[in-house]
Amino acid sequence: MKKLNIFFLLFIVISINANAQTANSTLNRPKLVVGVVVDQMRWDYLYRYYDRYGQDGFKRLLTKGFSCENTFIPYTPTHTAAGHTCVYTGSVPAVNGILGNNWYSRADGRVVYCAEDNSVKTVGSSSDAGLMSPKNMWTTTITDELRLATNFKSKVIGIALKDRGAILPAGHSANAAYWFDNATGGWITSTHYMNDLPKWVKDFNAKKLPDTYMSKDWNTLYPINTYNQSTSDNKPYENAVAGSGTFPHATSKLKGKAAYDAFRTTPYGNTFTIDMAKAAIESEQLGKSANTDFLTVSFSSPDYIGHSFGPNSIEAEDGFLRLDKDLSNFFQYLDTKIGKGQYLLFLTADHGAAHIPGFMTENKIPAGLASSADIKKLLNDEAEKQFGVKDIIISVINYQLYLNYSLIGEKKLDEEAVTDFMLTRLKAHPGIAGAVNLHELNEETIQQTIKERLSNGYNQILSGDIQFIFKPQWFDGRSKGTSHGVWNPYDSHIPLLWYGWGIKPGKSNREVYMTDIAPTVAALLRIQMPNGCVGKVIEEVVK
Ligand code: ZN
Ligand code: ZN
Repeated sequence: MKKLNIFFLLFIVISINANAQTANSTLNRPKLVVGVVVDQMRWDYLYRYYDRYGQDGFKRLLTKGFSCENTFIPYTPTHTAAGHTCVYTGSVPAVNGILGNNWYSRADGRVVYCAEDNSVKTVGSSSDAGLMSPKNMWTTTITDELRLATNFKSKVIGIALKDRGAILPAGHSANAAYWFDNATGGWITSTHYMNDLPKWVKDFNAKKLPDTYMSKDWNTLYPINTYNQSTSDNKPYENAVAGSGTFPHATSKLKGKAAYDAFRTTPYGNTFTIDMAKAAIESEQLGKSANTDFLTVSFSSPDYIGHSFGPNSIEAEDGFLRLDKDLSNFFQYLDTKIGKGQYLLFLTADHGAAHIPGFMTENKIPAGLASSADIKKLLNDEAEKQFGVKDIIISVINYQLYLNYSLIGEKKLDEEAVTDFMLTRLKAHPGIAGAVNLHELNEETIQQTIKERLSNGYNQILSGDIQFIFKPQWFDGRSKGTSHGVWNPYDSHIPLLWYGWGIKPGKSNREVYMTDIAPTVAALLRIQMPNGCVGKVIEEVVK
């Protein structure tokens, strides 16, 4: 009895103490959150180039931050818009409505673009590159939730060369999102955010920094014979930038729009993105008020370089060695401007990439190419022979077939017979490992991981009817360059690093998902998670 009383008293004392602590301290949050997405960064790039990274870029995050080593994208297709949306919404295409970069809209009878919005106008250029907003995204982002949590006192700004890389992370209620305009070589936005560019953006654009960057040809940072992680420079399966498939890429010869088009496919695009991020922090006084601000930065250039030259190229290696230097410079700037330990930063990717099929087959590893347009034509031709009706498939996009149901009804075809025919014909394709009726996905006997990712990517309103699954290393593309979009680890295994405010150094190999990023940020900031969030807090990070 006595013992019990002592414990009871002890319990009361501890409770009072805990209450007193809560009452006396104010809510502690970082001054600034910096969300970094490296477009098309495979997880293995952290280690592939590790020995040549400096101490203060990727290595700072790996040694002084927390690394979730086994982070996967839990849906297909693994494309840019879906990835950026998932990172910031903690949600999947089934819930957030961003199925890919593009998808077929039955309502509009055409392929739509993720960020298109004809109700807004371009701000900062006469081009139509600014007819963009996040209106196709059904859910809130973690950046929206921060705005809601602080009664819109927190500032949110999104920056990326790609419109979708700036717009989707910044959310609906952002103060601004800025992206690159190929017509002018400057940063633009849309009337979704404002009616005129701020003076600091106009001043920044007036410097014409891309012209300065491009006036210096892109050559390798180190002697080219030291690039041991890459195949030789001159390969027939690589694309060209600035008219050349090999170093040096003569960017100085390009002028005007041609220069700005190519600018995206150079490491200068990353440096320029950081220039803009710094200007935004400086001019908008980010991290200087009593409320936490949020800057989202996406580096688009690694994706353009990756598509053109592939993961095993000198261009990719050089791109990442240069990005490492840019990051180091950016982190030092944040230390000085915001203060060490005063900002929370995470770095991840929107997807990875496959090796180029030509490179794989050169090394006896199975790989192949198939085009959606060819598959559509082949199946429509065969279906016409079978059913006597033309163009039963309206669209093939994101590895999904959209059937023309009104035509099927009008011609009194048996829907099930048409579906079965398509499934059988797809499975006869040499690059296809399986095909499923998306409306009856639960009844299909397919591997569990694949089923879950297809299910997360399946949106009842927007998705197609039949999904085909390629064999590993097959994708929709051309003989040069590479792509991404499938469930396989090379596309779905991404880096996830946490650094700074509230983060203890460490690493975990536990499998976590892209959907877990937003709820983990929410837990760290103690704000509500986004309204379509299906992820879980990564407890190792918040401890
Ligand atoms: Zn991407
Ligand atoms: Zn891409």
